[in-house]
Amino acid sequence: MNKMSLIKKEFVPSTEEMMAWTAEIFNQGIRLPGYPADYWAENWVKEQFETLNLQDINLDPVTVKKWEASNAKLKIWLVDNPSESFDIPCFPIPYTLPTDGVEAELSLISDDIALSGKIAVSEVNLSKIPVKMLRYLAKADRYYDPKNEFDSLVQTVPFDMQFLNVVEPAFEKNASGLIGILSGYPWETDKYYVPYDALERKIPGVWVSGNKGKKILDLIKRGKVRAKISFNGKISEVISHNITGTLPGMSNEWIVIGTHHDGPWNSAVEDASGMALVLAQAKYWSQIPKEQRPFNLMFLMNCAHMAGGVGTREFVKRNKDFLQKVVAGIHLEHVARDVKSENGKLIPLDDPSVRWWFVSRILLLEEITEDAIIKEDLQRSLFLTPDGLVPGWDRPPTDGSSYHPVGVPFISFITVPPYLFDPADTMDKIHEESFEPLTRAVIRIINSLKGHNAKELRDQILTKKERQRIRRKQVKL
Ligand SMILES: [Zn+2]
Repeated sequence: MNKMSLIKKEFVPSTEEMMAWTAEIFNQGIRLPGYPADYWAENWVKEQFETLNLQDINLDPVTVKKWEASNAKLKIWLVDNPSESFDIPCFPIPYTLPTDGVEAELSLISDDIALSGKIAVSEVNLSKIPVKMLRYLAKADRYYDPKNEFDSLVQTVPFDMQFLNVVEPAFEKNASGLIGILSGYPWETDKYYVPYDALERKIPGVWVSGNKGKKILDLIKRGKVRAKISFNGKISEVISHNITGTLPGMSNEWIVIGTHHDGPWNSAVEDASGMALVLAQAKYWSQIPKEQRPFNLMFLMNCAHMAGGVGTREFVKRNKDFLQKVVAGIHLEHVARDVKSENGKLIPLDDPSVRWWFVSRILLLEEITEDAIIKEDLQRSLFLTPDGLVPGWDRPPTDGSSYHPVGVPFISFITVPPYLFDPADTMDKIHEESFEPLTRAVIRIINSLKGHNAKELRDQILTKKERQRIRRKQVKL
């Protein structure tokens, strides 16, 4: 029988149902690790898994670093005119040091001088990457772009060139604090939830918006400026959970379908939408008879992506033997709508954000994934190298990244719109038209893997050099 016809369309959850799940999660509040809305999400996932009659439902405790901060204040004034001071709205930089008040002279970090005893001022500009350059840098010789948009499309990603190392340059120059200005942002905001690696910084820092930052920069041009930063906060160890549930199939081997249940804000795209994708798989496969499930299936909603990705890291560390029998780890994050900015506001567009697919260097897995993408017409799809996209990283910058270094065949789907770490990640940013085709594509991938096994796939993993020799399409800048 043709594998395609194995999709039971009547069992694929509808767009409306997936949107309703996403909205319900979104409406609970900020889902940072250890926050009430994230505990609500854990319980909700457990209840959903129970309703679907998944087996072996398990909540595996993981210690995570919960970050809390409030009452951030920034006051600046010209040394020559201390009676005239300005209160600048600001947001504490995550995992920096809370303080009752650090007061010092400001110095631009670009100045090639020691910053001891000074508060550093630096600008963060979100990187604008032409997709054709990304395609070249990421050795992306597979992509699905039927409208030829990639030649002209420019992606604004939610990072600048420093990625998560936004505090380190100031710290290394012995600054006593940091003011990070979100310059050149497509919209006016100071709520940038970066870094999220849960590494405690030894100096305090605050984000300020582009327009407010301009005021600080103008003042610095006029003379010596002093500032005082303060905010309350604490970092505490709390317990979050990786939640799993299973369905038996016709092989001793497994496919794991997962994503993370936490997020920086109410975060519709990041990652309520990913949770809806995983739940859609659970719901679909729970209606399919065991005889038609090619593998045992595990559904994973892990914790703490926003606290150093410790959820998936622990999942991989604690399940070494099990993972030998995993034919594919499929991780599904972010069903995002593309945006443009007008007069400091974000406007949702008709098209999806560019879809990034990090896939193991296994030609069979690449081909199966590409075939599903084309059949479901998932336009703007780009395959990226599983390591080295972030210089020095042995894994992709996604929640599903931990599979790669230990050799588990994996597919990590993600989109990275500019609003990913901002409260602007609201329900209107969901590309709802993508829910059903993405769900069907994952079903196709699972059906297409039928008859293959984990060892066979692991044996086919190519080295970076071997993969580069097989340039499927010539990529030219
Ligand atoms: Zn995510």
